[in-house]
Amino acid sequence: MKKRFPIILLAVASLLLAGCFSSKKATKGQRGQATILATEDPFKSTDEVTINFKKMKEKEWNYPLEDAKLISPFGGKRPNHKGSDLKTKAKDKVRAAFKGVVTFSGEMSGYGNVVFISHETGLETRYAHNLKNLVKKGDKVKPGDVIALEGKTGNATTEHVHFETRIGGQAFDSELIFNHKKHELREVKLTATKKNGTIDIKVK
Ligand SMILES: [Zn+2]
Repeated sequence: MKKRFPIILLAVASLLLAGCFSSKKATKGQRGQATILATEDPFKSTDEVTINFKKMKEKEWNYPLEDAKLISPFGGKRPNHKGSDLKTKAKDKVRAAFKGVVTFSGEMSGYGNVVFISHETGLETRYAHNLKNLVKKGDKVKPGDVIALEGKTGNATTEHVHFETRIGGQAFDSELIFNHKKHELREVKLTATKKNGTIDIKVK
């Protein structure tokens, strides 16, 4: 009987090892799929979400594209334009606006190479038309981290960053929180109210 122990141990060990390898394979397979990492709904237990940008310290935010010029605003002549188009030149560094987790990094119709970042506050930012994405899904980013290089992939005619800000999936004008002329965060308090399935976003 005593002699059997090593054999049983060996069998258990090899089963555990096999388990490790098969779970590794599954993770690899998932990574290949263009899925979006699930994030918590900020309206899960409340109808009103507030983000106080007034209280943010300088280290807690970063303008997404240094010295950029706003070449096309949110909405405006293109009502379906869900972002702010920021332009400098090809291959310039695109930076995370706030601390967060990458929920998508890959190619998407219209967007080209795009990065989605989910922030603690329930805010989401998206950076599209990149020449190359430099982060992957699940990566934790700090404000100012380089996440991509400026390009014109997807539905773009010139190199620029299509920058989106969203809350609860609802896109809003990033100009409400960023001064795109001064490349600064505005000292505002944002309130998003969910009523009858629509989200109303205001700043004060
Ligand atoms: Zn755009």
